[in-house]
Amino acid sequence: MSADIASLLKRSVELLPVSDSPRLDAELLLCHVLGKSRTFLFTWPEYQLVEAEQVEFEALFARRLLGEPVAHIIGSREFWSLSLAVSPVTLIPRPDTELLVELALQLPLPERAAVVDLGTGTGAIALALASERPNWRIVAVDAAEGAVALAETNRQQFGFANVLVLQSDWFQQLTGQTFDLVISNPPYIEADDRHLSEGDVRFEPASALVSGDSGLVDLARIICEAPRHLHPGGWLLLEHGWQQGEKVRQLMLVAGFVEVATHTDLADRERATLGRWPISG
Ligand code: GLN
Repeated sequence: MSADIASLLKRSVELLPVSDSPRLDAELLLCHVLGKSRTFLFTWPEYQLVEAEQVEFEALFARRLLGEPVAHIIGSREFWSLSLAVSPVTLIPRPDTELLVELALQLPLPERAAVVDLGTGTGAIALALASERPNWRIVAVDAAEGAVALAETNRQQFGFANVLVLQSDWFQQLTGQTFDLVISNPPYIEADDRHLSEGDVRFEPASALVSGDSGLVDLARIICEAPRHLHPGGWLLLEHGWQQGEKVRQLMLVAGFVEVATHTDLADRERATLGRWPISG
């Protein structure tokens, strides 16, 4: 029995119970099997898959039906303009996190800014910044050994010589080092958030998602420790939950940050807050 691209993509409706983006999911699985771009799918809907391709598509489709994230099935995810290797050891990069990259690129930073990405995971933020600012010196740290290895693999894939990947629990291995920008998408979900038992997040490690009962433990720790690692006039830029804006602003103001401001994500929800360490105290 042979199948063409159009008929296989029609089967994406079967994914409705497990996915918000069934059509896109089926397209990405098919692209992976064929080793082709999505443009190919649209241009050649009548292309007949050979048997081996069909068998592989069926296997991947069955995994998606069981809820496994597409990024885990195909082993990669697009972030910014980069195709990043992903794995179950860390968070799958989210489109919302591109807001952090955009905001960082708009800051008044020196030509050769020193930057640290805390909890880098796949390396998404650090590598996106490196792709746009070859003169920045970027340190990317993660507490999880597996994430460090993954971020380093991704770094090597693009050959970015201006990114250094290190294992560190937040600032622990960065004693005495100061930066122009501290940027992070830390875990910020409450331990009992019911979303943790639904959808793709079930396949991601809790260590990358959950932060104490209130979801604020890691954000608070970073805000408290960042001043020691910022140059005067340096910036702290954090992603947080859409209901945490007020608390994050408060924590930054109490810590002594100025120019504190929150920005909204693609769904118009408060998602990123930045603050500046004063030039003189
Ligand atoms: N925004 C992510 C989610 O809602 C959480 C990311 C994080 O904890 N840093 O799934």
